[in-house]
Amino acid sequence: MQGFWADKRVTVTGGAGFLGKHLVKRLERMGAKVFVPRRADYNLTALDACMKCLLEHPCDILIHAAAYYGGIGINVTQPASLYYTNLVMGANLFEAARLTKTGKVVAIGTACSYPGYLEGHLKEEDLWAGPCHASVVNYGLTKKMLAVQAQAYKRQYGLDSIHLILTNLYGPGDSYNPERSHVVAALVRKWVEAEAAQAPSVEVWGTGKPIREFIYVEDCADAILLAAERYNDATMPLNIGTGVGTSIRELAETVHDVTGFRGKLVWNTDKPDGALMKVLDVARLTAVLDGWTAPTNLRDGLAKTVAWYRAHKEEADAKW
Ligand code: GDP
Repeated sequence: MQGFWADKRVTVTGGAGFLGKHLVKRLERMGAKVFVPRRADYNLTALDACMKCLLEHPCDILIHAAAYYGGIGINVTQPASLYYTNLVMGANLFEAARLTKTGKVVAIGTACSYPGYLEGHLKEEDLWAGPCHASVVNYGLTKKMLAVQAQAYKRQYGLDSIHLILTNLYGPGDSYNPERSHVVAALVRKWVEAEAAQAPSVEVWGTGKPIREFIYVEDCADAILLAAERYNDATMPLNIGTGVGTSIRELAETVHDVTGFRGKLVWNTDKPDGALMKVLDVARLTAVLDGWTAPTNLRDGLAKTVAWYRAHKEEADAKW
């Protein structure tokens, strides 16, 4: 096997999760030697477990894709768990990576780290141009700290790393638990269940006005691995997205079309809207990946997601 990943030792935290599974599948296909630490063996919120993981499985590249995360709902109910878990896990993994002389860290960040009150597409240079949106500050700031840590560790220890900022992911294997899910999974579940129950209507949160960007999980995994191969600037994060904004109303209407449910759509404005707009600027990504753009459009991605959810409903609902 030839190519960048052939015979590379790659550890993927979160490798059994929604995004991680797709990274692992691709890495194995490209000939990498992949290790996925499981929580029962390595609780990565503790430094000694991070050290044990990287000493027992030394790697050329550490992809930190593990996160305790969720949609706007869990940000209201579990701000402290989001804060503590993600902050200490990231900090300890970076520290263990430099102590064990790991070749390169690929930190998976989030668009929630961006200032929450800017207008227009979010550019990497704007990461520090204002406060995170109050609805996601506990998660967003912890991931943002990884970008700070990356620069500090490069300067003091010479540790190579990159910080990838992901937009909203969706697809098969996501969390479909309404307390935790992001909007796409939440709507897919609501629509499929409403159809099965012949319900007269479905409820959607907020006003429908916020604009979000959605990337199909498989496209995102492709982009991450290309970026890990080609991008090396520890001082500048790299956005991973489609650059395409869609209003929540448009999203709901597309899910409506794709599922075939014909009931009414009811907006619950007691639920939060969150940031008004969260769409990434992808100019740097396109340049780094030689013109790459996400191949799956929203309608096709939603159709695949709905088909998967229908076929795996029991398993999907039981998870997380
Ligand atoms: P965000 O991107 O961090 O704000 O997280 P979400 O994906 O949870 O929410 C995106 C937008 O979808 C917000 O404006 C929500 O109010 C809206 N939304 C509409 N219906 C739902 C729903 O049933 N669940 C969730 N999580 N969001 C919803």
